[in-house]
Amino acid sequence: EPDRLIAAERKPEDLDAALRPKTLDDFVGQKAARENLRVFIGAAKSRGEAMDHVLFFGPPGLGKTTLAQIVARELGVGFRATSGPVIAKSGDLAALLTNLEEGDVLFIDEIHRLAPAVEEVLYPAMEDRVLDLMIGEGPSARSVRIELPRFTLVGATTRQGLLTTPLRDRFGIPIRLQFYTVDELEHVVSRAARLMAMDLAADGATEVARRSRGTPRIAGRLLRRVRDFAHMAGDLTVDKKVADAALTRLEVDGLGLDAMDRRYLHMIADIYRGGPVGVETIAAGLSEPRDTVEEVIEPYLIQLGLLARTARGRCLTGRAWTHLGLPMPAGAQE
Ligand code: ADP
Repeated sequence: EPDRLIAAERKPEDLDAALRPKTLDDFVGQKAARENLRVFIGAAKSRGEAMDHVLFFGPPGLGKTTLAQIVARELGVGFRATSGPVIAKSGDLAALLTNLEEGDVLFIDEIHRLAPAVEEVLYPAMEDRVLDLMIGEGPSARSVRIELPRFTLVGATTRQGLLTTPLRDRFGIPIRLQFYTVDELEHVVSRAARLMAMDLAADGATEVARRSRGTPRIAGRLLRRVRDFAHMAGDLTVDKKVADAALTRLEVDGLGLDAMDRRYLHMIADIYRGGPVGVETIAAGLSEPRDTVEEVIEPYLIQLGLLARTARGRCLTGRAWTHLGLPMPAGAQE
């Protein structure tokens, strides 16, 4: 599997704790989310209650995990993190829940991937802060009810619609995260450059920000690679020219699209005359899981206005043909 530079999955270097903003004030962008969280955190603290459960949803790398940590820190409570696929059995979740301390934040990443039996245990825990456990088997089996400490569940998922309705309904605070503006990403990369003691000129920051797919995780990753290229070329200051040279060598184009994005667009253009074409067909053609196509590749192409999702399938827009430098075929759908 080729290493996709702007792949959305976490890589160890992203866990670089020093670069993660630690307070709401340090967190750039997502203004609406931040303002709402500030109110809910303040209210919970002043009433001495656990904050209501929060669901963050949006494409990978936009700061869901970071915000969950910030929520715990601002509430002044402990933070425990796990992820949906890691919790194999209901007993695993029971162990996690019974080990929580009063007021803790429990963060479950990829919460849409919880096993159904595990999800069942979560409902009464979220709603009534109790755990109903079955002890024993057969005729002697009985259920016991355990009271849990007050806690705040913070769930993260790429799309709200991936959750079952009963789970979705139990989150009092659903928050959608948006792609970042170039301006916001400039702040993110300038801050990261400062922390890495890297000399980044303003036009260099703009160039990296413009080509980061609206995503802080990608901005951080591109910044490090640009720093490597600059270092090896003996450039002390990273300006627009240095950044552009590095990003071009990394095959990140002027809109921030990488080789996979271009393969996606080219496939629809070259084979399907611009569409409409179904997502399954596209996923098969790219040898990528459908989830990756829908949750990682497409949202940004749609955001850029290169792609339209229609009832009959995906279609390239006029802007996509222009970006590819191809004439739009007569009769192609827009
Ligand atoms: P998600 O959980 O949505 O996939 P993360 O919270 O793991 O995203 O964030 C990905 C990376 O981007 C982290 O390294 C984090 O430090 C950085 N990051 C995310 N949001 C911001 C932000 N608003 N400001 C600065 N850095 C951010």
